[in-house]
Amino acid sequence: MTETLLINFLILLLPVIIYLIFLENKISLTNKNLLLVLGAITTILCMSYPIRLELGFTFDLRYFPFIIASLYGGYKVGFPLYIVINVYRLIIGGNGIIQSFLLSTVIFLLVPLLHKRFMRLSSTRKIGCAAMVALGIILLFISTLTMFYETLNREYWIVSINAMTIYVVCMIFIMILVEQIHHNILRRERYAQAEQINVINNLSASVSHEIRNPLTVTSGFLQLLNKSKTLTEDEKMYVDWSLKELNRAEKIVSDFLALGKPQSQNMVHSNFKEEAEYVKNVITPYANLHEVTVNLSFSNTLSKKYDKNQVQQCLLNLYKNAIESMIDNGGTLNVDVTNHANSIIIKLEDNGNGMTKEQIRRLGKPYYSTKDEGTGLGMFMVYNTVTKLGGKIDVKSEVGKGTTILITIPA
Ligand code: ADP
Ligand code: MG
Repeated sequence: MTETLLINFLILLLPVIIYLIFLENKISLTNKNLLLVLGAITTILCMSYPIRLELGFTFDLRYFPFIIASLYGGYKVGFPLYIVINVYRLIIGGNGIIQSFLLSTVIFLLVPLLHKRFMRLSSTRKIGCAAMVALGIILLFISTLTMFYETLNREYWIVSINAMTIYVVCMIFIMILVEQIHHNILRRERYAQAEQINVINNLSASVSHEIRNPLTVTSGFLQLLNKSKTLTEDEKMYVDWSLKELNRAEKIVSDFLALGKPQSQNMVHSNFKEEAEYVKNVITPYANLHEVTVNLSFSNTLSKKYDKNQVQQCLLNLYKNAIESMIDNGGTLNVDVTNHANSIIIKLEDNGNGMTKEQIRRLGKPYYSTKDEGTGLGMFMVYNTVTKLGGKIDVKSEVGKGTTILITIPA
């Protein structure tokens, strides 16, 4: 029995190893097709090497891939795996097909139900949750067996307890591996982004400064030239265009400058109220122009040390993005600054055009923009500033419905 158990365990490790060696850099861990393919292979292998207990019934770890895949992937992954389990069970044949079918149906109906809640849990809780599910399933399995045994003797109980321990311990072990892989991937991504930020920071501060002066001088002279009476219509147009382009260049330069280090002369110890109100006042004419209403509600009582200019710029970028997303149909931007536990929470809710999952994933990467005139530096700066403050950003968005951006900053 130990031998087959080890084989089963090895089979369960197989997808983990395959993922780690071949797919880690290419496919997200929660990709549904990935879960499905690896899940199906593992299920079939597990069912091919069942553990035969002396009591006469067989027992295997076939529900492991099912539990893990459907907790991470929901019904979309659970359903095909359910089919795989039952079709393969039919092919294997033998006694207990009906019981196995009923049991798998119950499991299929219940486990994927947890998917949404499961995905919101922290790593440790995910592991705990999966272990509880495994325990539940093995209890269900054991209780269906009682139907075959009139006398529940000592042997039955020993086997049951062993089976329970195996299920729970194996599940905890595999889940720790899965979550650790997930954690490593996230850490590597964050590290790469931090590196990128570093490079841009160093370059931007020096280069932007040097470019700004010639830009200002050129734009000044062009404005003077524009006032000249001897210019023809065409020449005036060229000057206007040049000024417009210079303006754009200046905008990019100031975006870059804002990315630099916090300046000591700008540091304040405050609660974000002034900044949020200032930005609201600055942006209101722009919002009105596009039939967007901006509501600000403030109830934060905590304070924090930050660079005033950077926070203003950061909020301005967020307000602007939200308004720009509602440019076609108008709408409302609700900004809410509160505190919860020991954190300051800034929530921006718009009912604009929203983002796809892929867009959310790329949000905050430098130069990522979907707008013709966009620089793709706005959100990059936001992420940068919030990270500097030790905070985090959660984005929820639905195409056509709107976007909610939740910034949590520890006070
Ligand atoms: P830019 O505004 O110059 O395009 P940003 O870095 O500010 O650059 O934003 C990057 C992209 O993220 C935008 O082009 C847009 O597609 C998307 N985005 C940001 N905020 C929102 C929002 N509130 N609603 C919809 N899309 C958004
Ligand atoms: Mg922007």
